[in-house]
Amino acid sequence: MTEYEPVIGLEVHAELLTHSKMFCSCPVVDSTQAEPNTTICPVCTAQPGTLPVINRQAVEYAIKVGLALNCTINEFNVFARKSYFYPDLPKGYQISQYEYPLASDGYLDIEVEGETRRIGITRAHLEEDAGKNTHMGSYSLVDLNRAGVPLLEIVSEPDMQSVEEAEAYSRKLRAILVYLGVNHGDMSKGVLRFEANISVRPVGSDELRTRTEIKNLNSIRAMVRATEYEIARQIEVWESGGEVRQQTMGFNEETGKTYTQRLKEDSDDYRYFPDPDLPPLYIEREWVDEIEASLPELPDAKRERFVTEFKLSSQDATILTTDKAIAEYYEAALDAGGDPQAVANWVTGELFKLMNQDEVAVEDVKITPAALVELIELVDAGTINSTTAKDVFAAMFESGEGAAAIVEDRGLAQISDTGELEALVDRIIAANPDEVERYLGGKEGLMSFFIGQVMRETRGQANAGIVTQLFRDKFDALR
Ligand SMILES: [Zn+2]
Repeated sequence: MTEYEPVIGLEVHAELLTHSKMFCSCPVVDSTQAEPNTTICPVCTAQPGTLPVINRQAVEYAIKVGLALNCTINEFNVFARKSYFYPDLPKGYQISQYEYPLASDGYLDIEVEGETRRIGITRAHLEEDAGKNTHMGSYSLVDLNRAGVPLLEIVSEPDMQSVEEAEAYSRKLRAILVYLGVNHGDMSKGVLRFEANISVRPVGSDELRTRTEIKNLNSIRAMVRATEYEIARQIEVWESGGEVRQQTMGFNEETGKTYTQRLKEDSDDYRYFPDPDLPPLYIEREWVDEIEASLPELPDAKRERFVTEFKLSSQDATILTTDKAIAEYYEAALDAGGDPQAVANWVTGELFKLMNQDEVAVEDVKITPAALVELIELVDAGTINSTTAKDVFAAMFESGEGAAAIVEDRGLAQISDTGELEALVDRIIAANPDEVERYLGGKEGLMSFFIGQVMRETRGQANAGIVTQLFRDKFDALR
């Protein structure tokens, strides 16, 4: 059997977080929450005689993304009409950019299994979103709140050779958009949508076989599932002597399968032509330079800095910088006086564990960065041991109370009173003569048994260092 490899390109549609729409002053609202058709006007509902006006903020955001993706920002821009009919597109065309996009020829570096791969960015262009149809049995509802919301379409080269690379690319791109503050990254609100172009070919060949395009993938997870399924489907088609047909496909999240929507239109079918209502848009170099100078620190730069400045491992630094909100949490804890490695351990360990368990986003975590630092200080000071600290952390996560308050209320402070511990050690030695004999006979591994006995009696609150030393002294005296 021939071995195959996939060839994947992604188109990502990102809603831009502007206050108003792309070509009118209607506010951009959360289309999953707002009452239908409450943020519409004659322009975005395509009343005759109205004229679109370009949203400067949307252009600025698009330039930011273009720069972050190492693209050329093109001086000469044309908005074109992309003609197609759909009930949620009342104009009968979408205003988009075709021959003269805003940004082109960039790249995005991704890391997969410890290796860096460079994925080409063909272009990034501005367009407007359509409204939303809701199908209800024999009739359909149209909500135009989303009609005219600025969208940035980011098109990659077909440079991805595995589903893992497609996923890494999507996550990295999402992180950059959130870092730039141009998209909030919440895929449940439909602000980030994916289209995957997929073909397969025999491993080692450089031919490009017929591709299919899967539309409307509303999350990275859906993109991954659809891509995996489609790759397997195409391999099966070729292997059974058939031929993959060029087509547009949908993905059914229930069945996990792709299905044919229609045979592919060529771009000519859209009858692109320059929108006569919008003059060409010239972008001045000085404006681009200004925007470039104001770009925030992006994930790659932040990761490098975490490695050099805080001496974190590359793995920790990657985990802490992938999500902007996590990186901010981490840095706030350092600002509060936390030790870089200790904070990294708590965030990537216990915090992530509880966040996953309870499905809590970092924005909703009740433990403030300063409270985490307070907990770490209690461990450093020997007030609580690391086992107790995890319980305290869980309680903080639950209630939002401070570490010291929880330790105080629940009487969790570590027992470091040597007199009290010595009495306990004596008692345990007396109660386990066989183990003591074996220990003295050379079974030194039994030390953990003895310490475990003390921990059980003290509900884990004994100072393990002191207890170990006490046992050593006692056993030495018995030799
Ligand atoms: Zn409007």
